[in-house]
Order: sequence, then C-alpha cells, then structure tokens
Amino acid sequence: MANIFAFAETRNGELRKIALEAVTAARSLADVTGGNVDAFIAGAPGISGSAAQLAKYGADTVIVAEHPAFEKYNPEAVAAIVADRIRAGGYRVAIFPTSALGSDLAPRVAAKLGAGLVTDVTDIKLEADAVIVKHPVNIGKVLSTVRISSNPALVAIRANMFTPVEKPRAGAVQIAQPVGDPSASRVVVKEVKMGGGTKLDLGEAPVIVSGGRGLKGPENFHLVEELAAAFGNAAVGATRVVTDEGWRPHSDQIGQTGRLVSPQLYVAVGISGAIQHLAGMRTSKTIVAINKDKEAPIFKIADYGIVGDLFEIVPALTAAVKEAKARG
Ligand code: FAD
Repeated sequence: MANIFAFAETRNGELRKIALEAVTAARSLADVTGGNVDAFIAGAPGISGSAAQLAKYGADTVIVAEHPAFEKYNPEAVAAIVADRIRAGGYRVAIFPTSALGSDLAPRVAAKLGAGLVTDVTDIKLEADAVIVKHPVNIGKVLSTVRISSNPALVAIRANMFTPVEKPRAGAVQIAQPVGDPSASRVVVKEVKMGGGTKLDLGEAPVIVSGGRGLKGPENFHLVEELAAAFGNAAVGATRVVTDEGWRPHSDQIGQTGRLVSPQLYVAVGISGAIQHLAGMRTSKTIVAINKDKEAPIFKIADYGIVGDLFEIVPALTAAVKEAKARG
C-alpha cells in the first residue's frame, strides 16, 4: 500500500505538461502498490485552482503550498516544504521533473532527505520492493538500469516519456504550511526570462522541426519555421553549429550541451547526426531526416529518411502537411 508523491511543476500560475506526466507516472506506480498518489503544487495564492486538473490525472490528494514568495519558484523554501512533506508522508517514490526547475529542486530535496536520486529517467518499475529506473548515459549511447535502494527513492523523469492519461480520483485538497518564512529565503528568483521566443517549449512540444548547417545561413531558417507552423504544434530546434554561428538563439540548441527532447515527431533538416546532437533527441518517438548525403549518420537512427536537397524537399513537405491538415 505504498504511497507515491508527485511534484507538479507550474509556470506563471499554470500547470506544465510535465506536471501531468509526473502524476501519470505516479498513478501507474500506485496502481501496482495499491497506495495513493499525493500531488504537490507550490505557487502564489490561487494556485489551488489547478488541483482539479491533477485529480483528473490520478491524484488522490493534492497538497497545496500557497505563498506570495512561491510565485516564481523559491529554491530554499520550496525544497524545505517538499522535503518536509515527503518525510512526513512516508512515500516509497517521489517523482520530479527533469526540467530547469526540477534539476534545481530534486537534488536539494534528496540532500535534505539523504535519499538516492536518479535524473533524466525514461522508465520506472517496481519489482518486489525495489525501485528500478532506466536513464540514458554516455551521451545517450547506453541505457542504464538503476536500482534505487533508498527509501524514499527520488526519481526525476524526462519530459514526454510518460504520456498523460486521465484517471480521475478525488483530489482532496490539503493545505501545507511553509517551513519557516519563505520571504526570508537567501535565494530570490527575481525574473524568469523565456528563451527562443517561440510559443511552445522545446521540452513539451509534440513535434520539433530542427535545422542544421545544411540550411547554409539564417536567411533560410524560414523553411524550418514554415514547416513547424504547418504542423501547428511544433517548436523549432537547431544544432550547436547553428546556435554557435548565431543563426538561432542558444536556447534552441538540442543535444549533449543543449536541450534533451523526446517529441512524438522529430524532423531533422540538414543535420548530419553527430553523436552530441543525437544525445539530445534519440529518444524521440519518430525521427524523420532530410539530408542530401545518404551516408549521413542521422539516417542510422531515423525511422524515415529522405535523401535529397532540403531546399526542394522542405517546401514540398510543408505544402503536403498543409494539404493534409486542410483535408482534416
Ligand atoms: P554538419 O555536421 O556540418 O552537417 C550538415 C549536414 O547538412 C550534412 O550532413 C550535409 O550533408 C547536410 N546538407 C548540406 N546541404 C544540404 C542540402 N542542401 N540538403 C540537405 N542536406 C544538406 N552539436 C549539437 O547539435 N548539439 C550539442 O549539444 C552539441 N554538443 C557538443 C559538445 C561537444 C563537447 C562537442 C565537441 C560538440 C558538440 N556538438 C553539438 C557539435 C557536434 O559535434 C556537431 O558539430 C554538430 O552537431 C553538427 O551540426 P550540423 O549537423 O548542423 O552540421
């Protein structure tokens, strides 16, 4: 009957998609243990309005920490209250996002609890009493299986690996009091600046159209943007060469030293498929590569490969996507 904790990340007062993924992952574990899912949200007063959505995805209880100082995340105060709740709740597993916020929060909580933490997790299982997780290592060349022996086991999931599934539960709201005075924190987040300027976050977009050096220059990136716009739910990504050259902002870079993404569909345009780029996107569900060199390494991991000149293929693909969308 072990219970599972899920940290539900919010941004600007709204739940992020990975919050629903965390609750979905927690629900599937709790369905095995027969225990409850307790989701946790922290934010400015009014954040409790998100509780119903967490209940829809399987939260039996939603623990809400509301305080003006939680509006833009508060590393020390949020870590203190989360650790406190996990300690008090006796959870078997606590799930976090592998996001910018989660990568700051989860290690702080793990340190406070003296618990084991595995980040960038793509799969979680309970075997007898053990928590077994999978996560890519060695820039994605190896999928490592790790047994977390601590209790609780802390797990930070990679975005887009646990598709949100509706499994409505009661979602009773429980108010959590901050530990100490959150306004007195030594670390204060003053501003959150969104990079890239695109509407969809790369970590959450179901489709990513990514461009490489094959585009020849920034003036041709409109081809990638137009294809992304035709899909309607796509974000634009890039290789490091492209961001280093200043054709696109650094926040668009995908790979070992950029963003880790796992969209449903990844379209690689004029990208060779260097190991450092693959490290950031190889877990994408379906990969389409467009490259004029049939020996390009990207074709080794592509589900669909189009060998040819991107300057001919991308406009044709954009037109085809628009046509298919128009047909419904
Ligand atoms: P290229 O390798 O130059 O490939 C361009 C491709 O475009 C070629 O395959 C070519 O055949 C094709 N092409 C050219 N013209 C056309 C055309 N008209 N039509 C169709 N195809 C065409 N890279 C990342 O992306 N992300 C990272 O996070 C990253 N981290 C790194 C970390 C380290 C420590 C190091 C050393 C490198 C890192 N790199 C990273 C760089 C990486 O090694 C590659 O240099 C980079 O990914 C190559 O980018 P590219 O595919 O755009 O360019």
